[in-house]
Parts: sequence; C-alpha cells; structure tokens
Amino acid sequence: MARAKKSAIIAVANQKGGVAKTTSVASIGAAMAESGKRVLLVDLDPQASLTFSLGIDPDAVEVSIHEVLLGQAEVAEAILEASEGVDLLPSTIDLAGAEAQLLTRPGREFVLQSVLEEVRTDYDVILLDCSPSLGVLTLAALTAATGLIIPMQAEMLSHRGVGQLLDTVRDVKKLLNKKLKTIGILPTMYDGRSNHAREVLDDLGGRYKLPVLSPPIPRTVRFAEAPAAGRSILDTARSSKGATAYREVTESILAAL
Ligand code: ADP
Ligand code: MG
Repeated sequence: MARAKKSAIIAVANQKGGVAKTTSVASIGAAMAESGKRVLLVDLDPQASLTFSLGIDPDAVEVSIHEVLLGQAEVAEAILEASEGVDLLPSTIDLAGAEAQLLTRPGREFVLQSVLEEVRTDYDVILLDCSPSLGVLTLAALTAATGLIIPMQAEMLSHRGVGQLLDTVRDVKKLLNKKLKTIGILPTMYDGRSNHAREVLDDLGGRYKLPVLSPPIPRTVRFAEAPAAGRSILDTARSSKGATAYREVTESILAAL
C-alpha cells in the first residue's frame, strides 16, 4: 500500500516584529482551507497573537504547544479546531519559559520536527507562526520546515536584520535541515501609491537573491479589525483587496510546493 503523503511544513519567519507574520499565517491558512487543503497552524509565539486572532482565548487553553514541546502532552491532545476550517496548535504565555527549558536539552532543534511528524499525514500544509526572535523556537521551526516564507514590510528601514536571518537559514540548511527551501519574500503593508515603496519592491529580489512572492499585500486598515473578531480578513472583509491579495499569493505558494 502506498504510504500516506506527508504535509508540507512552511515556516513564516522574520525576527523583526510587526511585519505581518501572524496576519500572513492566519490569512494564508484560511485561503488554503478555502481551496480545500487540510491545514494546521502552529503558534510558536509566547504572545499567542495567532491563537487569539483565531478566536481562542490563550488563557483558557489547557494543553498548548508548550507542554507538547516539553514532552508533557501528546500533540493530538493540544490541537484545536479553530475558525475558518483550520486546526490550531495553540500557544500560551507559558511558552516563554520553554525556550530556557529546551536550552539544556540535547537535540532541541529537532523537538518540533519530531512532534509534527506524528500529524504530518493528517494535513496537506502545516504553517508555523514564528516569534520575533532567532531563538531556540525559531531554530526548531526552521529545522522542522520544508519551506520558508519571509514577510517584509515594503519599506527600506524594515530590512535591517534580514541578513542575519538569511545567515541563520544558511547554517540551518548546512547543519540541521538540508530540505529547507526558501519559497520567497512576502512583501507586506505595501503602499502602491508611494514611489519609495515601489522602488523597494523592485529592488528586493535582486538584493537578497530570493524569489519575491506576488502580488504584494497592500496596506489596508481592514487588517486591524480582523484579530479582535477572531477571524482572518478573508472572512471579515471577504472581497477586500487585502483578502484578494492573500488568496492570489496563496495560489503561488501552493504551486511552489
Ligand atoms: P508580526 O506577527 O510580524 O508581529 P502582525 O501580523 O501581528 O505582525 O501584524 C502587526 C500589525 O500590523 C497588526 O496590528 C496587524 O493587524 C497589522 N497589519 C498586518 N498586515 C497589515 C496590512 N497589510 N495592512 C495594514 N495593517 C496590517
Ligand atoms: Mg506575530
């Protein structure tokens, strides 16, 4: 009998905060579910913004990724059904302590990979929402991932630190995870009326020698409303330009898998 197919695992990472990692995970996840994919979203940020934005109160979560990573619970016990047809491996503030606890463990970079291995045949795609750091949890995400998306604000000042991220990715590929493929940079909060933003966008791919996903995600206030509603913009503003852009970019991501 043919072995069941394993999911792709896509890390969405950038150690800079506020570049739309969480928004992108929620929106791309919802768009993938709309197109019939079985999707698991993993919240790897102790701030639990993804968990919150999917309508789940992090303070009420009983078993989170924290216990799973520390071997205190099975992954299946922690997975919840969230809104918009996706499953969620939730986070809580407890995860802030996991980093320190994992530091003394051998093989800590592989801890997420081994946990996700148990559910990979249940999903087509697993999306990892990384925290704004290059610590143990992000390294574990890059080690578990088959693909990487780097959201970046389409304005110059936000690019400091990308070199450091790409150095880390190179080391992870060499030492921990040969399968990691950078799917591309995802330009977010793009203002097409600004010459400056257009120049930055044109310059991005050449500068980092990476694919740039298209279309860029426009800056729109509609994104601010979605998390509090516990839904992504694909549901709160179904035919807005932001939702449309995420649907289109999701098509190109699925095609690149
Ligand atoms: P990160 O996870 O990288 O820290 P978030 O996804 O939490 O970033 O986004 C940071 C803030 O920017 C949030 O308030 C979010 O609602 C807002 N935001 C995200 N994408 C857009 C966009 N395209 N236009 C306007 N605001 C956005
Ligand atoms: Mg975030």
